[in-house]
Amino acid sequence: MSLLDHLQAKLHALGAQSLTRRLRTADTGTAPRQTVGGRELLMFCSNDYLGLAAEPAIAEALAEGARRWGGGSGASPLVSGHSAAHEAVASTLARWYAPHIPQARALGFCTGYMANLAVVTALGDEHTEIFSEQLNHASLIDAARLAKARVTRYGHADVAGLRTLLAASTARIKLIVTDAVFSMDGDLAPLPELLALADEFDAWLVVDDAHGFGVLGEHGRGSLEHFGLGSERLILVGTLGKAAGLAGAFVAAHTIIVEYLLQAARNFIFSTASPPAIEHALLTSFALIEGPVGAQRRAHLVALQAQLREGLTALIDRHPRLGWQLTDAATPIQPLIVGGNAEVMALAAALEAAGLRVPGIRPPTVAAGTARLRITLCGTHTEADVDQLLAALEHAAAAQEKAA
Ligand SMILES: *Cc1c(COP(=O)(O)O)cnc(C)c1O
Repeated sequence: MSLLDHLQAKLHALGAQSLTRRLRTADTGTAPRQTVGGRELLMFCSNDYLGLAAEPAIAEALAEGARRWGGGSGASPLVSGHSAAHEAVASTLARWYAPHIPQARALGFCTGYMANLAVVTALGDEHTEIFSEQLNHASLIDAARLAKARVTRYGHADVAGLRTLLAASTARIKLIVTDAVFSMDGDLAPLPELLALADEFDAWLVVDDAHGFGVLGEHGRGSLEHFGLGSERLILVGTLGKAAGLAGAFVAAHTIIVEYLLQAARNFIFSTASPPAIEHALLTSFALIEGPVGAQRRAHLVALQAQLREGLTALIDRHPRLGWQLTDAATPIQPLIVGGNAEVMALAAALEAAGLRVPGIRPPTVAAGTARLRITLCGTHTEADVDQLLAALEHAAAAQEKAA
């Protein structure tokens, strides 16, 4: 059979289920107001939670870094790609996490996907059992598939279920792996309870803080700071393309764990280091995150979250027949669960017609029947922006109800 025919048939099947994904091209940079396809839209899409992607000081630092270091890093970190800028980023992060992880050391990666792949494949050897939370990010799921370890899934936030599985395990090494903030639901993992289980059953806790870093905690250090956790059992993965406004990721863990990753993580060893200019700019991003700009935007985000939730709750109450629902989101990720794939895409299209962009999220990213608008807030949105979103949703809800 022709490969082209084979793929055409698969693409056709996706289309029949309203599951075709479409690549859109932005004409301006990431910001609450962005021009896409020649139209300015009010965006509730990005993971740039602090608005740092558009921060002039970061653009300036990138330019300065490029002037100082040039373009690419030229090689993998262990060959010659690891610059003083990379080292400064790693040592800043090691200092940030020292109160949470004894003998903390940090190691940089080009993306969060790569950092997760490194941790889970390098640590997940044949002596290990991985306990993987049901709603983990795709990168953790793929990493677990590649690991030699046995993989056991536990239910979403199901501490009691995990306890039973840990008690029954005979594996020498036990690795609990979880998102800290669930990317499509916006709720927090019960990290204190998970860490208590790790203590009880001599397990280790891998925390993917992609959506907590910069956002949670007094200084924006993420979920460990938010919950006040401290343990050598913590293995933290943070991403730097979301709230940090740039690109990259890191692992922070006990120095022996990081030293082992350096020796064993194939995707770290055999991949070119990130451009040093990005690392240079990350130092500016870190200063903004832990300084007054970060504190102000985190406080503003909390206020916007409350405003949005109050408005969405009232909207759902006014239109009970639509069956829309909120999640237990406690973060700038505030999904509106709509249900069907076609319904959510119609809703997203109605919003876009009104000048707003909110992504519709469908299976397999979320469970069938729970397609949703994934509304994300940014510390540079205004209260008027959130009001505009609520008004557009009210209009669309009234129209959908009439059509139903
Ligand atoms: C975005 C994300 C990643 C991947 O990070 P990138 O830097 O975008 O590759 C990993 N885990 C979670 C939970 C994410 O949301």
